[in-house]
Amino acid sequence: MARKIGSRYTAHTVLGRGSAGTVWLGDGPEGPVAIKLLREDLASDQELVGRFVQERAALLGLDHPNVVGVRDLVVDGADLALVMDLVRGTDLRTRLDRERRLAPEAAVAIVADVAEALAAAHAAGIIHRDVKPENVLLDMQGPLGPGGAHPALLTDFGIARLVDAPRPAREGTAARPSSAPRSVIGTPDYLAPEIIEGLPPRASVDVYALATVLYELLAGFTPFGGGHPGAVLRRHVTETVAPLPGIPDELWQLVVQCLAKAPASRLRASELAVRLRELLPGLRGQPPLDIDEPDVSDDEGEGGGGGGGGTAHQTGTAPSLTPAGAAGARRRGVVPLVPGGVSDSSRDTHTSMRVPGPEELAGGAHGTARAPRAHGEPRAGSARHRSPAEKARRLKLGAGAVALAAVAAVGGWLAVSDHDAPGDAKPGHHAPTPTPRR
Ligand code: ADP
Ligand code: MG
Repeated sequence: MARKIGSRYTAHTVLGRGSAGTVWLGDGPEGPVAIKLLREDLASDQELVGRFVQERAALLGLDHPNVVGVRDLVVDGADLALVMDLVRGTDLRTRLDRERRLAPEAAVAIVADVAEALAAAHAAGIIHRDVKPENVLLDMQGPLGPGGAHPALLTDFGIARLVDAPRPAREGTAARPSSAPRSVIGTPDYLAPEIIEGLPPRASVDVYALATVLYELLAGFTPFGGGHPGAVLRRHVTETVAPLPGIPDELWQLVVQCLAKAPASRLRASELAVRLRELLPGLRGQPPLDIDEPDVSDDEGEGGGGGGGGTAHQTGTAPSLTPAGAAGARRRGVVPLVPGGVSDSSRDTHTSMRVPGPEELAGGAHGTARAPRAHGEPRAGSARHRSPAEKARRLKLGAGAVALAAVAAVGGWLAVSDHDAPGDAKPGHHAPTPTPRR
């Protein structure tokens, strides 16, 4: 049923639902548009509306072929809507779910597009803060590029900052009063280590997140993701990324450089775009990497939620037992930014969380994210090779891990909410928190 949005737009049908609201196919004076109607509780939040209006110029001013343009912001009664360019296609998460991993050429072409979008944003002083496959739209009506990749467009610019910004606390009250719940769900998989350590996010956090996306497109799982959010946060800070068997060396060097713990060591988005495009001719025709996901635990004793393959540290079914691209196979840890928050996305639930293993909690026996195996290679330390005594020991450790994980959860929670304090509310410089998942 058609619905008027302000005086200029009409929403016709629902294109999709996300954590921040519903996206409609609509039309306006200049033709078809996508209209993101923010959730009622967000739209009725006066502070949030104020921030949207303040940010209007920045959001409207970003004009780049790889950015989903924001055309208008409508505040109309109870409605708060973002009118965007309509992208006819799908998002990158959907494609990744379907194909499990992409051929290097297509992955690099898509990531180069996003790097260009980021370069334009960074030049305009805008940090995205929520780069992840869900926020990359593939324009199926655009021309096919290298590796048969459709043009990629980055969306949700500044939304993380607006929706997730800290709110001023009145003296003696919590920074985020319970009277204003915002059940925004974020994934910690793409969070740069400096955010976790409490530094204000700069442009390099987007480069880190994009390098995580590149790794994920190539590998089928993120370098530090999976399992308990507290464990994910720790890995970002302490672990080195495990090499992907078969990845071309120059491409690997770029991934490593952009996943550097030190923000200053990362490439800038514009440099990354150039370097990736230089690699494209050499990647032509290469098939997707043939790797199994790293085995975190095929040990029943480590307990936890399981929830299918998909990230480097997930427990549960070994990927070789999971049909490639099986629907719903990919689940990742998500962390509520508001206690008790529930995602309205059907794609993620807390059942995907996993309790970290004892070695992870001990700081990682190796200091390196567990190495993915070339397809068919045996697993190091697999349950098959363990003695009964060792299995019993692991079971005990596993039980201990459950208790420790609870502590880690609280610790991780504090680590991200600690900074959610007043006085940090400047756009682009607000306190680090896990970004909302939408
Ligand atoms: P949120 O970020 O609020 O969680 P999304 O931005 O992911 O929500 O939007 C929900 C769905 O709407 C997505 O599946 C996406 O494919 C679709 N969508 C979002 N923006 C557009 C757009 N500009 N054009 C076409 N479809 C869109
Ligand atoms: Mg989104």
